[in-house]
Amino acid sequence: MEDLDIKAMYQTKSIAKHLVNIPLAEIKRVLEYKCLWKNKKLYKVNRYYPSSQICSVCEYQNKKLKDLSIRKWECPKCGYIHDRDINASINIMFEGLKIYMQSLV
Ligand SMILES: [Zn+2]
Repeated sequence: MEDLDIKAMYQTKSIAKHLVNIPLAEIKRVLEYKCLWKNKKLYKVNRYYPSSQICSVCEYQNKKLKDLSIRKWECPKCGYIHDRDINASINIMFEGLKIYMQSLV
């Protein structure tokens, strides 16, 4: 999971309006609890990792995507059209796998 600064997100007006009725802190708490209960590891991806800016197909970083209102974008390098959230979730999954692989060394 992405290690988001949940408190700061709720304090940022432009983000907070999208988080109404989404208990992010509770989701995080339940994930941590369930992983601990099932003896699983929960890997947290650094909150500054640009998960929504990196093309999950070719790894090009599109720094023009800081505006959260952009929900779909076309990668200028490979042309793939991304849904912002799906692309970010793919990147977070692979970044978590990298953290896992590094933990094995
Ligand atoms: Zn691309």
